[in-house]
Amino acid sequence: MSKLKEIYKTLSSRYGDLEWWPAESPFEVIVGAVLTQNTAWTNVEKALGRFEGNLSPERILNMPTEELEEIVRPAGFFRQKSRYLKAVTEWFTGCNCDIDLIRSAPLSSIRAGLLKVRGVGNETADSILLYAFNLPTFVVDAYTVRFFGRFPINAGNSYMEIKDFCERNLPKDAKLYGDFHALIVQNGKEHCKKKPECFGCPLEKSCEKKMEE
Ligand code: SF4
Repeated sequence: MSKLKEIYKTLSSRYGDLEWWPAESPFEVIVGAVLTQNTAWTNVEKALGRFEGNLSPERILNMPTEELEEIVRPAGFFRQKSRYLKAVTEWFTGCNCDIDLIRSAPLSSIRAGLLKVRGVGNETADSILLYAFNLPTFVVDAYTVRFFGRFPINAGNSYMEIKDFCERNLPKDAKLYGDFHALIVQNGKEHCKKKPECFGCPLEKSCEKKMEE
């Protein structure tokens, strides 16, 4: 079994199925992926709740900017994020909001298209591709970078290095990528924090060597 698969299994047996990404629809994932930039998920939930169950591409596009800003205010950077939301919604409606149509294109070209949208960087693009469209692309975030900076495995340092490493060493499986990312985040919140709390971490034994260096 590859080292990465072992890490996955160990984390999975500790934390179980974390059921990411919590959303009612692919469009809600898209909105959440923009809103979660530089903020905690609890703030995203507050902002999403202010749509009062009426979250659609049409509504976002037709809503006056000031109203959208007011709704997303709890997620922070609300002026910027409301502009980003309009932009990514335009991209989605440009694809007829048709998930099958989007999925029928090569992953690299959908990703390249998304990255051209204002406010969409690597992490937002990959979160949308993976969790909204169920496409096998590995998401790297601050927790992932921190984890691979500590665990004794040569995954690289940059976003693309870590992403490529994980994709090269795991089966191309969207469910696996989605679960794995969620597990890394969970372990990052519980143990692999800014100041690591290694005692009791499910990976304590396999990480020992690195931590002793
Ligand atoms: S043992 Fe420590 S450094 Fe290694 S993954 Fe766990 S918390 Fe992070």
